[in-house]
Amino acid sequence: MSVAKPFRKLIKCVILDLDGTLLNTDGIVGNVLKVSLGKYGKEWDGRETLKIVGKTPFEAASAVVEDYGLPCSPIEFISEISPLFSDQWCNIKALPGANRLIKHLKRNGVPMALASNSPREGIDAKISFHDGWKDSFSVVIGGDEVRTGKPSPEIFLEAARRLSMEPSSCLVIEDSLPGVTAAKAAEMEVIAVPSLPKQSHLYTAADEVINSLLDLQLEKWGLPSFADWVEATLPIDPWYIGGPVIKGFGRGSKVLGIPTANLSTKDYSDLLSEHPSGVYFGWAGLSARGIFKMVMSIGWNPYFDNKEKTIEPWLLHDFTEDFYGEELRLVIVGYIRPEVNFPSLESLIAKIHEDRRVAERALDLPLYSCYKNDSYLRNS
Ligand SMILES: [Mg+2]
Repeated sequence: MSVAKPFRKLIKCVILDLDGTLLNTDGIVGNVLKVSLGKYGKEWDGRETLKIVGKTPFEAASAVVEDYGLPCSPIEFISEISPLFSDQWCNIKALPGANRLIKHLKRNGVPMALASNSPREGIDAKISFHDGWKDSFSVVIGGDEVRTGKPSPEIFLEAARRLSMEPSSCLVIEDSLPGVTAAKAAEMEVIAVPSLPKQSHLYTAADEVINSLLDLQLEKWGLPSFADWVEATLPIDPWYIGGPVIKGFGRGSKVLGIPTANLSTKDYSDLLSEHPSGVYFGWAGLSARGIFKMVMSIGWNPYFDNKEKTIEPWLLHDFTEDFYGEELRLVIVGYIRPEVNFPSLESLIAKIHEDRRVAERALDLPLYSCYKNDSYLRNS
């Protein structure tokens, strides 16, 4: 991990947004809108996502009703879609790093508040599906408990008041632009974790912009640092992906000198959307060839600015031939760093080789090496 910069302010408590920050709500929103717009003969294409992220239900509904020319009022639209959302709350997953963050702050006695533009009832229902969350927050406050929601500072100021903290002692973590605006208007420090891809350049008002909760460096803010990094790697709950190796962009070996074994993401778009972009590592099983160490990137590869989120594993072994079409199984066990852009191809290549060294070393640790025997890798 990089050396932490001196912290700017002594933070005493953390105020968290819920949707898009702790919970992966985006997919659910898309599914519900697909169904509800379908009833009007309209097709949800996701283009309004930026207009509704972080908004109050009324603002979000107004934007959709107007953009799609629906023959109903925003209030009527809300009452139509609310039951569809409630049905989905049990399916909303915690974002990677959310449970880790909540547990860490709780263990270290850092007071936490939850402040969301959603109605209080919905917040309580949503967090009830996540073990230990409800008891971890000293304060929970919904958009219907203040006069005006984010981007007004009111909800954050009220959270600070209920925590008995000065606004300047509060650190807000937010995924949306209205949330960041609200936090700055409340004169609080704010870390943005944009939930929509390729939007981080819009978050100029935030004190820090990170790619996912995995990248939090709390010591920068005078808070206790995470103690779970091991030799520049962060252990994660293992996850599994597999399929036939396909031809990738052709640049892996040609441009970079790094032959990636690309996987088709056709059947894995949900799985892929669950995991933040970044550099990960683990083990790779190739039918008939064996099991190999592996380092991989997930994301849009900023240097090449891919249009689709892809997964590009690099098997750390010198193969003498291509193996397109062979079944590749991966178990991903750790995280190294977020995706970043590089000023030159040389610096990108140097960084990938550094990632390789980090992964190779880490995979010898018992913590990670045990997964080499995972039956998923051999079951091909
Ligand atoms: Mg949000």
